[in-house]
Amino acid sequence: MKISDFQNLIKELYFHQDSERGIKDTFIWLVEEIGELATLLKEKRLDKEKISQELADIIAWTISIANLLEIDIENALKGKYPNKCTKCNKNPCECNK
Ligand SMILES: [Mg+2]
Ligand SMILES: [Zn+2]
Repeated sequence: MKISDFQNLIKELYFHQDSERGIKDTFIWLVEEIGELATLLKEKRLDKEKISQELADIIAWTISIANLLEIDIENALKGKYPNKCTKCNKNPCECNK
């Protein structure tokens, strides 16, 4: 699945609810999901299945915010993360060498 396809899917499924809730409350939901991830990462034994679900939630809520702002997240990612590090121009990044 392309990222733009996923963004369209989230729009199709949730845009009506996201726009009623508004951007600030949608952001609060995103932070709650980040909190859920933090709770799982505090466990002694990491549950990768649960962690993968929370990571999926975090991405989905992030996309919801992009949808509310009409931001094309695939474009944003390509711009911010091209095929090399934008600071050192290397792939892999050598900034910490
Ligand atoms: Mg969750
Ligand atoms: Zn770098």
